[in-house]
Amino acid sequence: MKQSPEKVWSGCLDFIKDNINPQSFKTWFLPIKPLKLKETALTIQVPSKFFYEWLEEHYIELLKSAIRKELGPEAKLVYSIVMENTYGNTKPYTVNIPSNNRPPIKNPSVQAPINLGGKGPINPFSIPGLKKVRVESQLNPNYTLDKFIEGDCNRLARSAGYAVAKNPGGTSFNPLLIYGGVGLGKTHLANAIGIEIKDRYPEKTVLYVAAEKFTQQYIESVRNNNKNDFVHFYQLIDVLIIDDVQSLAGKEKTQDVFFHIFNHLHQNGKQLILTSDRAPVDMQGMEQRLLSRLKWGLSADLQTPDLETRISILNQRLYNDGIEMPKDVIEYLAYSITTNIRELEGALNSLLAQSSLNKKEITIELAKSMIDRFVKNTTKEVSIDYIQKVVCDYFDMSIDLLKSKTRKREIVQARQLAMFFAKQLTKSSLATIGAHCGGKDHATVLHACRTVNNLAETDKRFKRYVEDLEKKLTLS
Ligand code: ADP
Ligand code: MG
Repeated sequence: MKQSPEKVWSGCLDFIKDNINPQSFKTWFLPIKPLKLKETALTIQVPSKFFYEWLEEHYIELLKSAIRKELGPEAKLVYSIVMENTYGNTKPYTVNIPSNNRPPIKNPSVQAPINLGGKGPINPFSIPGLKKVRVESQLNPNYTLDKFIEGDCNRLARSAGYAVAKNPGGTSFNPLLIYGGVGLGKTHLANAIGIEIKDRYPEKTVLYVAAEKFTQQYIESVRNNNKNDFVHFYQLIDVLIIDDVQSLAGKEKTQDVFFHIFNHLHQNGKQLILTSDRAPVDMQGMEQRLLSRLKWGLSADLQTPDLETRISILNQRLYNDGIEMPKDVIEYLAYSITTNIRELEGALNSLLAQSSLNKKEITIELAKSMIDRFVKNTTKEVSIDYIQKVVCDYFDMSIDLLKSKTRKREIVQARQLAMFFAKQLTKSSLATIGAHCGGKDHATVLHACRTVNNLAETDKRFKRYVEDLEKKLTLS
């Protein structure tokens, strides 16, 4: 009554099937092939060493029970693993490993299963004769950490990123979730962390992928029937950077597969770095269990940069490009464009383009007309900062003095003028204006506006101030 390996394995499968969920069964047991039966030792073939590790880690008890049920208490399991060919041989080779006797497997060679920028679709784990190929990290080499200017707006995220880069997978910042509005530097910072890790740990496999691309790859893998390869590939990454995870919202299947990859990596001490344009609490259409994972590590936000940071960013950009620009033009750009860094850079680029196309010198007038024409709708509104700067320049005093508690008459007047124009030219509330002018309340701002109106009617010199400032502030 000699048994065949197929028969024994099919008995095992029946038992296993009853004890795990259908998805796991399909993923982890259907791909296995029974190879050989020698006495009570069953050899099964698994598609990759990763696959073997996973089985040993998660399903060994189940496998043992199944095989003992079929072959008795002496039953043994031997894996035959299809290895990637790293020696230039033409045939794939296999290693046989008895269950629970795992040798250290060094130097994994990982082959991209899917198209990760340029290379054709490849089945990584079973095609014979593959050369060892490194995973291209897909990082943007321009987005380095030293080019990422530090400011109050990004200090937490930047230093958490730096800590992660020094010790990927080894801090409590796992996952590290960087969130913030458009153009505030999420992609730049995420890449910078990846580059820093590559520099410090060249042996680590780092992969940057936009969540949209991840989704496409997943869909493609389902279509091509190699979803397992897709999952295996991602589970071999040491540092996985997924940009714009909010785009997984509403995509249940992709979230599901990402959830499993996330768990595997996290359990194995691998680092996850994610970015999102909103905080986890605001992510609708995201599965609860995934959301809870996102909150495991550290969520650090990027805020809109303050004036000083905006000026530093422009200066750095100009310095890198070897371009000189008058200081007041740089300041004007930084004062006027407050929304985000991408727009700030956009404005700088159009200014440079205009000046070189029309062979015009870069002056504040050119900058003003450019800003009017190019970014009118988004950033036309003059900022409170800018108004304060113009007022202070006009009276030749420092902004600090304007914001101070001094009751000296000239200073009080300048402060009131700044408040008056802030009310006229911005959409800011009285309270916000007050807060910007040295922590005054809304009643003080209201009083300032009335005083300016009154004085302008009664005091000729004061009227001149108002008219001059108005011209300066609204000049196009
Ligand atoms: P996001 O991904 O949040 O939309 P990006 O990372 O694409 O934003 O950043 C937009 C632009 O601003 C990029 O060119 C980036 O280099 C630049 N940038 C963002 N933050 C900084 C910073 N702190 N220092 C220097 N440049 C920055
Ligand atoms: Mg981005």
